[in-house]
Amino acid sequence: MGICLSRAEDAVNDFIDSQSRFYKESKQAKEHLEKKNSAGAPVENPHISAVFKSELSPIYPSLPKAAKRFHCHHVYDGDTLTLDGGDRVRLLGIDTPELKEKQPFALEAKEYTKRYCHGKDIWLSFDENAAGEENGDNKDHYGRLLAFIWVSLENNGGKQKQNSKNSSYQWLCINEGIIASGLACAYSPTKTKKVHNYDKLMGLQKLARVHKLGMWKNFKDYDTVVTPNGSAFHKCNKNNGSDCKHLARSKNLSAIKASVAYDRGLHPCRNCLG
Ligand SMILES: [Zn+2]
Repeated sequence: MGICLSRAEDAVNDFIDSQSRFYKESKQAKEHLEKKNSAGAPVENPHISAVFKSELSPIYPSLPKAAKRFHCHHVYDGDTLTLDGGDRVRLLGIDTPELKEKQPFALEAKEYTKRYCHGKDIWLSFDENAAGEENGDNKDHYGRLLAFIWVSLENNGGKQKQNSKNSSYQWLCINEGIIASGLACAYSPTKTKKVHNYDKLMGLQKLARVHKLGMWKNFKDYDTVVTPNGSAFHKCNKNNGSDCKHLARSKNLSAIKASVAYDRGLHPCRNCLG
């Protein structure tokens, strides 16, 4: 009985621990966002400001022709939301930290998307190459619409200081903006199904990493191991090889830096680097 009780106590303590960690992160995210919102613009610092003026800017003068207006009902996390009517949308070309797994910056990623989309009009555009080939209606096998999301900045915090000379630039592509802020990685489900702006997404990711934005804040480069065709990079052992079970039968391993692996669009192995 005593053992059971102490186990129960342990479980409760673990729960309280995890909750307080979650709330602490949540509080930090809130304070961080309040600071950002008080500036009245999606621009957090000089690096981002430079990005917004470059050819990599996620802000456009007009919407894509085929974009359609919807109303966002709820934002689940940085890359998933629902529309009025219940359709779920997965943002194309990006991957945000998992909220369920309480990964760092998952809350900030959610807050980014929520700030621009929750309860607002949003515009969706699709990508013929990257989505919808299975059933021809831009959905993945979970039935989620795969889309780029566009919002009008005029309805999101007023005029943008850095665009005051050219106020016609007012459409923010959320998929690009969230990578520019370091709160998402560029993502391609397969090598042949790349989104049309994949190179731009990779460029934005690299800039966010170099400028240590968001999830890249504490990034320090390290050695990793890759295979010629794999989509993941793995932990490097003392012999420039790998002890990862996913590479047990792999030959032709090569050692590269994590930064180079990220720039190639590879992601950390969930088994050995998760
Ligand atoms: Zn691995």
